[in-house]
Amino acid sequence: MQLSEIGEFGFIDRFSGKFSGLLQPAVHGIGDDCAIMPLDDQFEQVVTTDLLIEDIHFLKAAISPFDLGYKALAVNLSDIAAMGAQPTGSFLSIALPSDVDVEYMDEVMNGYHQLSEKYKVPLLGGDTTKSPGKIIINVCVTGKVKKGEAKLRSSAQNGDAICVTGFLGDSGAGLKVLLDGLTPDTNSKKLVSWHNKPEPAVDEGLWLGKYSGVHAMMDLSDGIASDLGHILQKSDKGAIIHLEKIPISPELQQTASDNQWDALKLALTGGEDYRLLLTIDSEKVNPIKEAYNKTFSHPLSIVGTITNKPSGEIQWKKSGKLVPLHKGGFNHFSP
Ligand code: ADP
Ligand code: MG
Repeated sequence: MQLSEIGEFGFIDRFSGKFSGLLQPAVHGIGDDCAIMPLDDQFEQVVTTDLLIEDIHFLKAAISPFDLGYKALAVNLSDIAAMGAQPTGSFLSIALPSDVDVEYMDEVMNGYHQLSEKYKVPLLGGDTTKSPGKIIINVCVTGKVKKGEAKLRSSAQNGDAICVTGFLGDSGAGLKVLLDGLTPDTNSKKLVSWHNKPEPAVDEGLWLGKYSGVHAMMDLSDGIASDLGHILQKSDKGAIIHLEKIPISPELQQTASDNQWDALKLALTGGEDYRLLLTIDSEKVNPIKEAYNKTFSHPLSIVGTITNKPSGEIQWKKSGKLVPLHKGGFNHFSP
């Protein structure tokens, strides 16, 4: 059997169960945005790791080295944010071909440093080794969160409002601008910029994490059509999504209309948005949304509802009517 037949999640499922018996009772292992481990009387530690490979996750010609360094850390901080946690440190392992320009790598580290400084996350260690060809960057980030307050994918409850922060699809559209070789205008430049230099929702995650009414949370790395499935599967719930409520930025709206792209499809299935997807108690969602929209410069949008059944399934609705939609999202190895 080839890996493409089962995809990355099918592969992870084949071995993750074998390791669960090794877990101490207070430890959460594979299956969420971060692992959670006891730290002290007050806090738990969260840990995440993510890998970026040249020609798979980035094209050297399409991203500046500064943005590449920034993004390598950003995608990890995004997983920390998804737990409602405070980042505390990072580790950076890189494999480099020996003919790579030192000045290029200096710029990668300048980008990495800029984001480290922004959230006061020290680089604590890593590894540097030779690569036979491509640049490989692995980052691991640690964080901390008050005991029992980490937001899990498994905490969605029946009737919860499904919410997202910011706009969806900008990154996927930015990638399309790059791949299609479009000459960027003001709007599409913003999309490319979100793709190459996404802002992790660290402040938003910490802010939302303080509300007990916020139940499940994760970050959007593969598109809501795929990522919401993880919350549903872990929480044993279903969902209704109202397509007209999916937040699309004016920049994506305009670029999509200029190029005859389907903005909604990009918003649902485009990867690498690094926005937060969360479920909020239906009785508490309105005041939280109102306070959020006063605090941050982008909206918190209610896009649907968690249901008891059918478990694991998303019902897509347009103007109240069910519409068929293929399960999308970005899944490594799938054809
Ligand atoms: P994310 O997109 O939030 O980084 P993924 O979807 O990549 O998470 O992974 C899902 C879960 O599987 C996470 O808990 C992750 O830590 C775990 N995981 C992924 N690959 C591996 C692996 N090779 N070994 C162990 N756990 C893994
Ligand atoms: Mg994640």
